[in-house]
Amino acid sequence: MIKRREFLAKAGTLTAAVGTGSLVSAPAVHASPKKFRFKMVTTWPPKFPVLQTGAEEFTKKVKIMSGGRLSIQVFAGGELVPPLGVFDAVSSGSIEMGHGAAYYWAGKVPEAQFFTSAPFGFTAQQLNAWMYYGGGLDLWREVYAPFNLVPLPACNTGVQMGGWFNKKIDSLADLKGLKMRIPGLGGKVISKAGVNVVLLPGGELYTALERGVIDALEWVGPYHDLKIGFYRAAKYYYYPGWHEPGSCLELVINKKAWDKLPKDLQQIVKSASAEANLMTLAELDAKNGSALNELVSKYKVNILKYPDDVIKKLHELSKETYEELSAGNPKIAKVYANFQKFARQIEPWTAMSTAAFMDAKKL
Ligand code: CA
Repeated sequence: MIKRREFLAKAGTLTAAVGTGSLVSAPAVHASPKKFRFKMVTTWPPKFPVLQTGAEEFTKKVKIMSGGRLSIQVFAGGELVPPLGVFDAVSSGSIEMGHGAAYYWAGKVPEAQFFTSAPFGFTAQQLNAWMYYGGGLDLWREVYAPFNLVPLPACNTGVQMGGWFNKKIDSLADLKGLKMRIPGLGGKVISKAGVNVVLLPGGELYTALERGVIDALEWVGPYHDLKIGFYRAAKYYYYPGWHEPGSCLELVINKKAWDKLPKDLQQIVKSASAEANLMTLAELDAKNGSALNELVSKYKVNILKYPDDVIKKLHELSKETYEELSAGNPKIAKVYANFQKFARQIEPWTAMSTAAFMDAKKL
């Protein structure tokens, strides 16, 4: 322990040493660091659990970790720009950050759909492996670069449910002519099986199903589906969510805004985003488990597994869809080839680890 007198003596020497130099060249160590105030727009309704609330949680953590040097004001879908205006707002630089899903931009960047989820594609665990250690995130950055966007994985729903149906699906024939709300690649695939795919905004889904405007829909999983109350509007709840086995939601940052951030703030954004990617998955796994129990025990929901031949056919149709899309678009072909390459690397390992272990628990 340094004695007080000794300390004062040392401090005096230091002052004297500094005093010998020119005052003009003294470093401005006490200058307050630059503060950044960003706006974030999201594609989610206000207070939408886990997705919107997860985005808000992310900004709170960034503020704490940066000691207030980066504060981000969040606007839910429609509050500042329409939900589907997020991509353009951040791409143009009028807003610094966005939170949404890459598959919403299929009309502009169809190859980006693979970074959210692909039918019979990756689970959350596999997708994270591809993103962080399999080149997926590098490829995503390359795909978004022409739009001045820097993407980061920022949320994952885990495996979703197959959807709510007012008709029992015993065979492929039962899918024919069915009116179903199912967006994205899943919609493309199931339309090949004869389903009449309907696109409706989230807010209209319950009424459309209840009034028979549509016969079926998919939304997220037990937790979100229970909250909306779809069990009151449909008889059957099907699994698994073959079309969205682990949807990754995105944080996008305007490239110019990103480049202005010093390295430590960039790292804080990256770390907080990776944490959100983990925490939202954990939150949904916990809440989906509890909601599933409630749907079964309290509301006596008829939960059914898709018949094997239906699943097999949908899998075949998914491959057919990817091949057709790749043949018509070299950008899709490039992302799909990378996705497939990683699938060949990880699937045998998943089969021998997670899948085999889950099978073993049933014995
Ligand atoms: Ca969904």
